[in-house]
Amino acid sequence: MSAAPHTLLKPVIVGAGPAGIRAAEALVAAGLRPVVIDEAARWGGQIYRQPPEGGFVRPKSALYGFEAGKADAVHRAMATIRDRVDYRPRTLAWNCEERALDLLCDGATEVLPFSHLILATGATDRVLPFPGWTTPGVFTLGGSQVALKFQGCAVGRRVTFLGTGPLLYLVAYQYLKAGVEVAGVFDTAPFDAQARAAAGMLRDPATLAKGLCYVGWLRAHGVTIRNNVRPVRVEGGERVEALVWTQDGREERTPCDAVAFGLGLRSETQLADLAGCRFRFDAMDRAWLPERDPAGRSSVAGVYLAGDGSGIAGADAAEAAGERAALALLEDAGLAFAHERAATLDHKLARIAAFRRALSAAFPFPDDWAGAIADDTMVCRCEGVTAGALRAVATTGQAREINRAKALTRAGMGRCQGRMCGAATTELLARALGTGPDGVGRLRAQPPIKPLPVAAEPASGGSAS
Ligand SMILES: Cc1cc2nc3c(=O)[nH]c(=O)nc-3n(C[C@H](O)[C@H](O)[C@H](O)COP(=O)(O)OP(=O)(O)OC[C@H]3O[C@@H](n4cnc5c(N)ncnc54)[C@H](O)[C@@H]3O)c2cc1C
Repeated sequence: MSAAPHTLLKPVIVGAGPAGIRAAEALVAAGLRPVVIDEAARWGGQIYRQPPEGGFVRPKSALYGFEAGKADAVHRAMATIRDRVDYRPRTLAWNCEERALDLLCDGATEVLPFSHLILATGATDRVLPFPGWTTPGVFTLGGSQVALKFQGCAVGRRVTFLGTGPLLYLVAYQYLKAGVEVAGVFDTAPFDAQARAAAGMLRDPATLAKGLCYVGWLRAHGVTIRNNVRPVRVEGGERVEALVWTQDGREERTPCDAVAFGLGLRSETQLADLAGCRFRFDAMDRAWLPERDPAGRSSVAGVYLAGDGSGIAGADAAEAAGERAALALLEDAGLAFAHERAATLDHKLARIAAFRRALSAAFPFPDDWAGAIADDTMVCRCEGVTAGALRAVATTGQAREINRAKALTRAGMGRCQGRMCGAATTELLARALGTGPDGVGRLRAQPPIKPLPVAAEPASGGSAS
């Protein structure tokens, strides 16, 4: 008797955040047993990140605020299917080629072939440098939030929040709620952009109400909130002492011992790149993103994309996109799939996309920031490359494209492989060359996408089958 068709499938999901968990749930419901890989120790992803097992205990309402119910639902979904998936926490997927992933777990490497791959790799903070940004005590917004959710501590006693995007207000609110003094929230976006975008954001009144609640709560507790701000410098040597900033040309100094900053998020696209997916420039995300159809199919047969890893849309969209990508996989594999459910998810994703457009109008990227970065400011911390060095290769005509600039300066060639400095390098080169961020090309991913220990060895038993 021949095997049922679905037992021949080896679906693999990278990412156990909202997108990956909902994808796994849909595959399990269809009788498949997916492998779910995540470098984190526990499932939940970024927004629903769980504290370490056996670590500090805080109720979900304290950890996730208004999102506690959703966090609980996502955590429970994974707990329910736990024995029907091959879940691999603390496992990094560091390469993808020839329909196999290279993995690293507890110092051992392994090659994991797949028949189908769902990439639900999420996002990280997008940052641009400014003088003093490498001073101890300067964190990304996401990193500051991870400290609260995962380490159960704050990044400072008196923290300023700088940048733009919903995370700016959310993390400031979470810090204030946790008992930290919030020295100020400095938004680069002009207030009138936010006022103009309010009508579009009414498409999702609940989310808008949450945002207004964060701002209202901060104001009610006497927190200074300013718009149209640009950073001048962080002061301090061993540790942050103050943030100096301007608003409409007027300079001010805010004493603090930590700065949390970020300019929205950027998708983690390296595995999609190594899997051979075609990319296109997305003006709203100011980034090259792997192409996907509305169901999550990439340009490579059998490779699917879901969640923030292929375009920033938030956690609700990630859940819907994860499930939708799994349904696309089932359809492509010739298995039964729920047409009506797919249509519902398509509708939901389209509605969230409209809201996302309004959100990005409310928090526009400060495209003058890169041009103002002083030449001696460090851009690539791994390789010690300054803004001046990058500008020099552009203005002397040696590099009109980011991979060439990388080869000449080593920017993006170090431990982070451009994950932290790639956006800044793009914006700097674009400014220097008088073009947009789409005009300098796409930083190509190279394996390993994150550092590997030199001593890493194949796991005993060799390749998984
Ligand atoms: C630090 C941070 C904090 C955030 N906090 C909030 C918040 O409080 N509220 C909010 O609305 N939005 C927040 N966001 C945005 C939020 O991430 C998303 O909207 C949502 O979590 C996206 O879900 P996802 O499943 O697409 O990705 P994620 O939740 O990011 O999950 C992706 C998972 O993939 C894993 N992964 C990625 N690459 C690899 C790899 N190569 N190998 C193995 N595992 C891998 C990661 O460990 C992660 O667990 C945050 C984003 C960041 C970066």
